[in-house]
Parts: sequence; structure tokens; C-alpha cells
Amino acid sequence: MTCSIIVHGGAGELSQPDDSTASLAGCTRAARAGHRVLAEGRSALDAVLVAATLLEDDPTFNAGLGSALTLDGTVENDASVMCGDLRAGAVAALRGFKNPATVARLVMERTPHVMLAGTGAEAFARAHGAVTVPEGALITPAQREKWKAALSMRAQKPGSNGTIGAVARDAQGRVAAVTSTGGMMLKLSGRVGDSPLIGCGTYADQLGGAASCTGTGEAIIKVTLARFAVDRLRGGELPQAAAQAAMAELKRGGGDGGIILVDAAGRVGFAFNSSRMGRAWVDADGREGSGFA
Ligand code: ASP
Repeated sequence: MTCSIIVHGGAGELSQPDDSTASLAGCTRAARAGHRVLAEGRSALDAVLVAATLLEDDPTFNAGLGSALTLDGTVENDASVMCGDLRAGAVAALRGFKNPATVARLVMERTPHVMLAGTGAEAFARAHGAVTVPEGALITPAQREKWKAALSMRAQKPGSNGTIGAVARDAQGRVAAVTSTGGMMLKLSGRVGDSPLIGCGTYADQLGGAASCTGTGEAIIKVTLARFAVDRLRGGELPQAAAQAAMAELKRGGGDGGIILVDAAGRVGFAFNSSRMGRAWVDADGREGSGFA
């Protein structure tokens, strides 16, 4: 059986000239690392977590190190993970952890729950040995500058950039998805986006495939975008067609963004209706691809 993986580095507007180079390099590195895990015969879940950890640790992306800031200037992370057998885990408004996607996996594997939020999630993560970081350590100079600029422009609409996600299908045919983000710049403290919500930012079902979304969280939530797309895979649509249909649905929700998909046969697809979405993949034939705009 073949294996495949596709990752995204977030949908949004072009902000810096070097965005494309850094995003492409980070996505390609993550897709290759995830694919190596699959080639070793390990699970789709392991593969998407390896990719997510690399992307979270890369300051280019709005997840883990490099997360967007709340209106108050703090970092609150959202993340979720799901397997094709419908196991799922998520964290919301998590503060002070290096790799929120790993904490989401811990929720899935070590609790009877799907989601933990805020201080309860933090106590759980500490108790299970998740790597903590001191206050402010996830804030990069670049994100601090963007936050200041957004504040001074009194931006009405919060900006989004660089959420990360990965979906994969392993050699045993299992699919999995992960999404992790700092959320929208200038979000209110306590705001939870689509990324940790199962069916919205992330979904996986062995009967269809796996999806990870990025973009305007409020719009993605209203149309439960990831579930929408996986249902189309379940109905027999190809990933590329399902991804395009998802973009029309996202518009109906009133937002912009993008989606990556893998179906149960290992075919990958993506679409976005923002000006760019960093992405990279290794398909079921072992062919690599990537893109930004
Ligand atoms: N969807 C994320 C959120 O709303 C942001 C993004 O993808 O850029 O939190």
C-alpha cells in the first residue's frame, strides 16, 4: 500500500517579501519528515504529529513559536488531532506549551474527553510531561511588530497568517489530520477558533479521508468546513474537487482560507481562496510538490 502526506503553513495575505521562501522551505521540510515516518511503516498519526512539531517550532508559522498575539499581547494556542477511526483530541486557549498539537494528542490518548481548554488543559499537559515554555517565549520579534502595527491601525478585522496543518494516509491505509494555531492576531483573550474544533478546522474519517483547514475561523466554524469536505470524499468525490467545493462553502460562511485533503486511497488535494497558502506534499507515487501563491 502507498502512503502520502500534505501539509499547509496557513492561508492569508502576503505580508513580508520573504514569506514565500520561508513558508515553502518549512512546509517542504515538514512534508518530507512526515513522509519519512510513513515510509518507515509508522502511523499516519505519527507522521502528522512529526510534521506539526516541525512547523510549530519554526518561527515562520503562526503556531507554537511565532504564534499571533491576543489583543492583550499574550499567546493562546488552539490545536486538534483526529484519526480515521474517529479518535480525536483537542486543546483550546492553551498558554505556555511549546507544542500544542502534542498536547492535543495527549488529550486523545490519555483522557476520555475530546477537548480540554484553558487552565484545566494546562494542568493536564503539565501532569503528562508536555514541554512548557516561559511566559512570552513563543512571541517572536516579527509577531510583536505585526501586533503593534495592527493595534496602531486599530484594525477592525483581525488578521490571520500561518496556521499549520497536516493530513496523511499511511501504508496500512489509515488517515489522520492535525491543525495548530495561535489564532487570529488581536483576538480577544478566550476566543476559540476553528482549529481545535472537530469537524471545523480538523476532521478524519476512514470512510472518506482527512482534512485540515486554515483561514477565517468564525466562517470555518459556521459551515463546519472539514467535515463538509470529508463527507464529499466519503461520497466518492476526488480530493481536488472536494477542496474546491469547500472553498465555495467557506465563502458562504463569509470568510477566506484554505484546506488540505487526503482521501482513504491516499490521493491528496488542496484549495484556497485567499491570496496565498503555503503547502507541500509527497503524493502516493512518491512525487513531491509545493506552492505558495
Ligand atoms: N483558522 C485560524 C483561526 O481562526 C486562523 C488561521 O488559519 O490563520 O484561529
